Amino acid sequence: MDAIAYPMSIATPIPVALANLIKFGILNGMELVDTHCHIQFPDYGQKEGFDASDAITAAQAEAVTRLLCVGTDLPDSRRAIDFVQQRDNCWATIGLHPHEGASYAHDNKALEEFAALVSQPKVVAIGECGLDYYYHHSPKADQEKILRWQLELATTYKLPCVFHVRDAFDDFWKIVDNYPGITGVIHSFTADKKVLLQTLQRGYYVGLNGIMTFTRTEAQLEAAKAVPLDKLLLETDAPFLTPVPFRGKICQPKHVRLTAQFLANLRGETLSELASATTANALSLFNLSNVYE
Ligand SMILES: [Zn+2]
Repeated sequence: MDAIAYPMSIATPIPVALANLIKFGILNGMELVDTHCHIQFPDYGQKEGFDASDAITAAQAEAVTRLLCVGTDLPDSRRAIDFVQQRDNCWATIGLHPHEGASYAHDNKALEEFAALVSQPKVVAIGECGLDYYYHHSPKADQEKILRWQLELATTYKLPCVFHVRDAFDDFWKIVDNYPGITGVIHSFTADKKVLLQTLQRGYYVGLNGIMTFTRTEAQLEAAKAVPLDKLLLETDAPFLTPVPFRGKICQPKHVRLTAQFLANLRGETLSELASATTANALSLFNLSNVYE
């Protein structure tokens, strides 16, 4: 073999973009996205002496390279937008949580102000929105009204939705089926295979988080096993739902990796297979840029 057979890269400096891909582990297939966190909350991490910027640095060290900060009401959606506009590789969603139904359903001014946020840079989805009949913090009619408001917004602006649905799937399907163009994810999916089928029939994605690592409900794990790889998304819901073995601590985006590893074992996949598929799904659903921004 003569010298000419050596690859060019030995003599050529690695371009910055490529260096970043290597640094973040993408060329090893190891890159994760936290598609649902709330680290824009103003007191995030305080009780344990860290802040959101620390959490982002820690996430990158675990190959969690992109984050979606999910808004839950009007001020929180504004905060999420502000937060991501000051940081790289973070995007925002704007949402009125079903718990907030009673506060917004009869406040047209607030609803208009909320709708105006949709055109802000780095807003990639509507939600979390949906129905919650478990806690029932707001009347059903109010929950439905603000869900429909958000579905109309998502339809007009062709944005995906991040859905929160708890003990309310029958009513939820009746409502969303009036909006055939809608795409989205059922976040924090903990239902069974029957609801999984209903989810997949509508083309929606399935968001799994730390609950999977500590649930004792066999039907939830059976459903998690059955999610097609091309419909699976990973999330933390930080600061909530911390996975094993860190129960009791504040959940961080870096913990997406623990859930990913758990699911890879459960489903008989490698971590890198699961990472590359779920990352591709996140990029596709939320139309995130393939390069960092
Ligand atoms: Zn959430």
